[in-house]
Amino acid sequence: MTSFSDLNLNPKVLKAVTEAGYETPTPIQAGAIPPALEGRDVLGIAQTGTGKTASFTLPMITILARGRARARMPRSLVLCPTRELAAQVAENFDTYAKHVKLTKALLIGGVSFKEQDQLIDKGVDVLIATPGRLLDHFERGKLILTDVKVMVVDEADRMLDMGFIPDIERIFGLVPFTRQTLFFSATMAPEIERITNTFLSNPARIEVARQASASETITQRLLEFRPSRRDRETAAKEKRAMLRAAIEAEGAACTNAIIFSNRKVDVDIVAKSLKKYGYDAEPIHGDLDQSHRTRTLDGFREGKLRFLVASDVAARGLDIPSVSHVFNYDLPSHAEDYVHRIGRTGRAGRSGVAISIAVPADDKYLAAIENLIAKPIPRGDLPWSPTGAIMAEAEGEAKPDAGNERDRERHRGRRGRGKGGRHEADQATTPVAIPAEAPDQPQEAAEQPSRAERMDRGERRGQKPRGDYRSDNHGNHRGEGDRGGRGGERTIGMGDHLPDFIALSFDERRGGPPRASLSDEATDETVEDQTDIAGAEEMKEQAVPTLEAKAEAEAPKPKRRRRKKADMVDDSGENATVTEVAAETEA
Ligand code: AMP
Repeated sequence: MTSFSDLNLNPKVLKAVTEAGYETPTPIQAGAIPPALEGRDVLGIAQTGTGKTASFTLPMITILARGRARARMPRSLVLCPTRELAAQVAENFDTYAKHVKLTKALLIGGVSFKEQDQLIDKGVDVLIATPGRLLDHFERGKLILTDVKVMVVDEADRMLDMGFIPDIERIFGLVPFTRQTLFFSATMAPEIERITNTFLSNPARIEVARQASASETITQRLLEFRPSRRDRETAAKEKRAMLRAAIEAEGAACTNAIIFSNRKVDVDIVAKSLKKYGYDAEPIHGDLDQSHRTRTLDGFREGKLRFLVASDVAARGLDIPSVSHVFNYDLPSHAEDYVHRIGRTGRAGRSGVAISIAVPADDKYLAAIENLIAKPIPRGDLPWSPTGAIMAEAEGEAKPDAGNERDRERHRGRRGRGKGGRHEADQATTPVAIPAEAPDQPQEAAEQPSRAERMDRGERRGQKPRGDYRSDNHGNHRGEGDRGGRGGERTIGMGDHLPDFIALSFDERRGGPPRASLSDEATDETVEDQTDIAGAEEMKEQAVPTLEAKAEAEAPKPKRRRRKKADMVDDSGENATVTEVAAETEA
């Protein structure tokens, strides 16, 4: 077996590695470090958790230990898709370069350019940056990239998802042709293949795990359920109740968890809802300011925060060694994200549990995930009965009534014929005593469009709401056909016919100012009611295809805005030290 001392690393780097407690190199380290030290390009196909960060930082420090940086001319460049990942890479440099005199700068948004400029002016050996911020500095004439000897692209597949590939290509054109490139990606999408063919020269290719592999130490479970009603509020409410029940069912074994949601709006709602029910939860996503994100993440890392509710991008690549559970509040629409998400638990040989909630509209995502991981996700017993619990509460009864029984009966024919899944009525339900979020309205009333939906329709009169909420949009409930192609233009509770009066906003009918009353009324409302509003916002947000929305939502703000505001942005100072600066606008 290879040992670190076989790898030709600088003795000071070896010392730091020993102090970090590593005994043997991981496969990506054993595979990537020797060619990197020989000056060869490396193509590492590895996901986070494999030790890939050290596989490029250790040889880089060894290479950079010789020589010094000149003003404004960094000697190496590490490009990361998100600020968290960039900060994590910077921490790795701190750990492994502690016995070597190297300077570094972290160029991520949110911190004043001035402070970052000062660092660059002094000369840095390692520049760790997100692509947009790096180009901003370059365009301001503050950065010269002609002395870059080693360039690292980390998490290239995520760069692709976030729309950074044009920036990456541009940066490749700005660094010397003779540089060495260390390129890492968890998957090799055709676009990534194209980039590597174009910009890497005869790379040593090291693939440590198949893209679909999930650690064997992770116990996966799928909670398949059909919300008792189709309206979005009820479905979302029940999903949140199911999440709480799933958490409760895990008991003390769930020491901490990352809860993933596909949309930022849901990240906020789920976190708020959990907090309302007494759970120690905080959201993290790209719209929160950097100091807030850092605080939340630090709290979670240090065990002060139990539940981190996260979007994919915010949590991407995060290395938090002991996360007992991952919950997928939504199944991800990209199958690879499932592997990434559940990989947040069960790290470094520990055991972990990944529980995913799936509703009928997730069928096609589920199929893609199971196809990718090449096995079915074991179905778990539902810890909570959606129909029974909600209705019982609404009607002040302890048990579901005959109507609910009928309701379930209705679902029996449609649900549960899927691969490996038992239908919910047959599932051994282990109910957990958790409160439903709020007493429900009577059935008919509940199935009317919500106020926010009606207001939104009024505002968007003439357009049918796209309603890209997945269960509506894709509409691929078994037995209902796939309506995804039409954008799921369905009027909840009223069939596809939308009477004209519904399409008028309250304000128009009253002659009042448009939408003002909605926001006023919304101020004091509960999480559920805010869901209405968020739902309406979401419908607007989702007027672009999901992927684009994701990229737009999580990716860099337009450069013009960044540049304009950049000098005014305050440095929170939280992550700033003499040799490092933090923040960015990219993620
Ligand atoms: P990464 O894939 O770079 O996110 O690393 C995942 C985790 O593995 C980090 O917590 C590293 O500190 C840890 N790690 C990296 N290399 C080794 C090693 N050779 N032995 C044990 N742990 C390691």
